[in-house]
Amino acid sequence: MILDQFKLDNRVALVTGASRGLGQAMALALAEAGADIVALDRTVREGTEAAVTAAGRRFLQVQCDLRAATAADLNDIVGQVVAQFGRIDILVNNAGIIRRSPAIDYSESDWNDVIDVNLNKVFLLSQAAARPMVQQGGGKIINIASMLSYQGGITVSAYTAAKHGLAGLTRALANEWASKNINVNAIAPGYMATDNTAPLREDENRATSILARIPAARWGTPEDLMGTVVFLASDAARYMHGSLVPVDGGWLNR
Ligand code: NAP
Repeated sequence: MILDQFKLDNRVALVTGASRGLGQAMALALAEAGADIVALDRTVREGTEAAVTAAGRRFLQVQCDLRAATAADLNDIVGQVVAQFGRIDILVNNAGIIRRSPAIDYSESDWNDVIDVNLNKVFLLSQAAARPMVQQGGGKIINIASMLSYQGGITVSAYTAAKHGLAGLTRALANEWASKNINVNAIAPGYMATDNTAPLREDENRATSILARIPAARWGTPEDLMGTVVFLASDAARYMHGSLVPVDGGWLNR
């Protein structure tokens, strides 16, 4: 039956930045669909564990600052997941940062931090996860891209460069790993009401102009991504490779 293809029973999902915002909602969605959850967080908070265990799934917390993590650290984390659960089926590369400043003044350290967390560590963690996925016969990697994987944005040059890079990385890894039964895809959220976009919503002019452009006439919520992440993590998406799926209230159509 078709709905059975969406079930994630006995799957193991590693979600980065799962303690708040979009990552928390996606972790909970995967758990509700049947997956055990490993949360990789810089700041550990209690809400995600409580929600995952209330859904009847196992939960493992890994504390890690991706900025400081080396390739070896990320390999060790994936090794810990496989040691504890026997496999790793799903990786959601969600953790991300944004630093806003006019390009003319953009600092080297902000540039390096944003590219590092939003792009470099996505590559290294994907590489670490793909190794056991190849051994076990397949897996799912879901990157969290952005409208700024398509557009230039305003005063967020490093974020735009990283999210454009993430779109390319999604396609490059999909090309290499599709034949290994690993589906690499991305979700491109529109303007979602989380801490990431709080400064935009606090700026009356930006908030008004953003809202006026969204055909759905509202900001997105973390819950708006729950169905898409379950779909991409499931057998139902088995022939999708290298796609960016916008979940944007119609923003890109304008
Ligand atoms: P958020 O509420 O700011 O959450 C970001 C998450 O990433 C937090 O859990 C944060 O951990 C984690 N993180 C940041 N730096 C990290 C590091 N060095 N090591 C480990 N974890 C780190 O943002 P969000 O809106 O949920 O964003 C999640 C993802 O969606 C990001 O990749 C973002 O670019 C993308 N996105 C968001 C929107 C939007 O409108 N909100 C739109 C498009 C794409 P801490 O709690 O420790 O800071």
